[in-house]
Amino acid sequence: MCAQCLKMNAEFEIDEPPILAKSDVVVIGAGPAGSSAAATAAAGGVSVLMLDKKEHIGLPVQCAEYVPLSLAAEVPVPAACIAQRVEGFITYIHREQVAQTRAPGYILNRDVFDRYLAERAVQSGVKLFTKAQAVAVKDQGVLINKQGRLSMVKAGIVIGSEGPKSVVAQAIHCPPQVLAYAKQITVKLRKRLQWAQIYFSPSSPGGYAWLFPKNNLANVGVSIDLSLGGNIATALAEFQQYLIKEGVISEEVIRTTGGAIPIGGPRLRMQQKNLMLVGDAAGHTHPISGEGIFPAIVAGKIAGSLAVDSIRSGDINLLAQYPWQCFTRFGEFIKRGFERKVEYNRNWEKTDFSVLVRKTWFAFPEYFEC
Ligand SMILES: Cc1cc2nc3c(=O)[nH]c(=O)nc-3n(C[C@H](O)[C@H](O)[C@H](O)COP(=O)(O)OP(=O)(O)OC[C@H]3O[C@@H](n4cnc5c(N)ncnc54)[C@H](O)[C@@H]3O)c2cc1C
Repeated sequence: MCAQCLKMNAEFEIDEPPILAKSDVVVIGAGPAGSSAAATAAAGGVSVLMLDKKEHIGLPVQCAEYVPLSLAAEVPVPAACIAQRVEGFITYIHREQVAQTRAPGYILNRDVFDRYLAERAVQSGVKLFTKAQAVAVKDQGVLINKQGRLSMVKAGIVIGSEGPKSVVAQAIHCPPQVLAYAKQITVKLRKRLQWAQIYFSPSSPGGYAWLFPKNNLANVGVSIDLSLGGNIATALAEFQQYLIKEGVISEEVIRTTGGAIPIGGPRLRMQQKNLMLVGDAAGHTHPISGEGIFPAIVAGKIAGSLAVDSIRSGDINLLAQYPWQCFTRFGEFIKRGFERKVEYNRNWEKTDFSVLVRKTWFAFPEYFEC
């Protein structure tokens, strides 16, 4: 059946789709947010079904792959998931080094990590459907398109962890997210590096360029808030040429990727009745750095745990604790980033660029001033 016909069927309910499965909890999206929510809920003894539209979890990688070392306190990070350790990041403004900030972390093998998290969820008892796209959230269930066939998955609680184009967010009537766009190439490094590099310049408005070392390779990318102008392809090409000229990377491009990053802060409504939003779907990304893996995993654990409490007690109102529990874990981190992003946009092209960056980037004391 063509995509248009599926959409029409879904919208007008031409045929009553068959019920494919029933589960206490249905998790849409098997990224870090979904897999940690699903694993937590299943470990609590409720039945969990996790859906992902992809055939191969974790692929293609759309990430620069940095996580703080502290992630290992939230979820196991096996050695196979780690490409290398970095000591922190060096910040450049107008290509001049202006700060070196210790922030030890790992550069992941993100595909291996996402697969590991999904397999860990399955080992906890989660049933995983791949090539299963959630099309809409209906009363007490999710309408899915599994290899061209529409069917219904009945659910007590639905967790939307399917990124910015969330069908759960649509069901809650959330407005579209504010997004930055990123493009990244993976290239060969001429010399191994222990520090990540962050470059601010007016050619990446509202974003930055990065080089994250990954053994003999590097993820080199650019993110831009297009509402402020700029051109991602041009900015990335210029940055790549600069790094080649400086002798940092070689010319060969091994992979190209990219994607959208929520930069508008957490959604005002991230829970309603039996629905919860987690990770990128909820806007759980730092609005300036774009860091989203850590909060996605923490929020997933909170959502999974509340789902268990709610199902066990029969009290759906327990889910109302979800936004506040997220806020207590990482709310201040994202809130400050959001406030600084608003300030950045307000002063874009009105204030000296270096002053603007210093107020909005956590390498500088100005970022932490009230
Ligand atoms: C270029 C780039 C670089 C980044 N670099 C970093 C970084 O270095 N460090 C960091 O912490 N963060 C980084 N991020 C952000 C980070 O990747 C996200 O915040 C993180 O992946 C969020 O996890 P998630 O589980 O919410 O969503 P995702 O990882 O996006 O997972 C969502 C899953 O849902 C599935 N899905 C989507 N729609 C449906 C549907 N309708 N039905 C079924 N399945 C569906 C998708 O296939 C996917 O598997 C980067 C983002 C980009 C774009």
